[in-house]
Amino acid sequence: MDTRPPLPASTPLIDPFARAISYLRVSVTDRCDFRCVYCMSENMTFLPKADLLTLEELDRLCSAFVGMGVQKLRITGGEPLVRKGIMTFFRAMSRHLDSGALKELTLTTNGSQLRKHAAELAECGVRRINVSLDTLDEAKFADITRWGRLAQVLDGITAAKDAGLRVKINAVALKGFNEDEQFSLTDWCAREGHDLTWIEVMPMGDLGNENRLDQYWALSDLRARYADRFTVTDLPDRTGGPARYVRLEETGQRIGFITPLTHNFCESCNRVRLTCTGELYMCLGQEDMADLRAPLRASPDDAALEQAIRAAIARKPKGHDFDYSRQSVAGKVGGQMSRHMSHTGG
Ligand code: SAM
Ligand code: SF4
Repeated sequence: MDTRPPLPASTPLIDPFARAISYLRVSVTDRCDFRCVYCMSENMTFLPKADLLTLEELDRLCSAFVGMGVQKLRITGGEPLVRKGIMTFFRAMSRHLDSGALKELTLTTNGSQLRKHAAELAECGVRRINVSLDTLDEAKFADITRWGRLAQVLDGITAAKDAGLRVKINAVALKGFNEDEQFSLTDWCAREGHDLTWIEVMPMGDLGNENRLDQYWALSDLRARYADRFTVTDLPDRTGGPARYVRLEETGQRIGFITPLTHNFCESCNRVRLTCTGELYMCLGQEDMADLRAPLRASPDDAALEQAIRAAIARKPKGHDFDYSRQSVAGKVGGQMSRHMSHTGG
């Protein structure tokens, strides 16, 4: 048993590989109003409400992380904007922006509820948001999201823009699905003033539908296609995450590529992920997690919680474990994650 006195709450979170943990992604719900085929099965069973952290508990947890040096908070899900009362939580977090402790409060959303919430998000100090959008074709959109309506999302994006939010579009690259839209989506983003990032599809859970590996479209191929049409310059911009950026010189656009399956970003990884039940995942590609709900609920005082957070960060692994190459002949993927992205928040 560790008998050393606990560190002061304000001591920054540094993991065993000398990486400062400054970025927390928080999944505030596992529910969603879409059923994207690469993310959820058609008939998802969601967590019982009693398992979820309340908004007050989420506030306590996030505030503890901010107190320990987290400067960037990304709210995600499931679909964060379908959680009841979520704007109360954004309002509460904005106090950390006001105090200067938090540098950025942001969210990743499917855009369906943006018309309703964009203005208030801006009021709460949100400046940039990520909106997931894989296609501009209405029928294809309905097909990939199962339950979504493209017009509603586009209207939400317009509302976000009107509220002064900068929008980054995240598109999952899917072979045979949006390959033919690489340039139309790029051109649309240029016209609308949105950044664009492509995400490589990850093997997540048993979704009860076709093998997602069939739709794997390597981002190196997208990059090569851009290079056929544009002068592509690699940018040094790094966010501590799996994104790399290029500039298309002819349009000045910045295009991102997120390749979660490569190891090339682990050495600079500055992030951890909190689920809506209070599980802290130290690495997207590993199963290890720490339960923070128990210490949170055990005492109104944050000392035990802070200790639990530090103990978890001390276990952050050096790197993750995804590897398509370990796919066996039986079609089982070596690095496949059994949990859904909607659980850890992508
Ligand atoms: N509902 C919100 C949304 O869609 O933006 C936030 C949560 S969603 C899980 C976060 C991101 O994960 C989305 O951009 C989505 O496209 C991505 N995602 C989900 N499943 C994925 C998978 N199997 N591979 C790669 N990206 C995935
Ligand atoms: Fe919902 Fe986002 Fe998953 Fe699509 S990717 S099902 S919008 S959580």
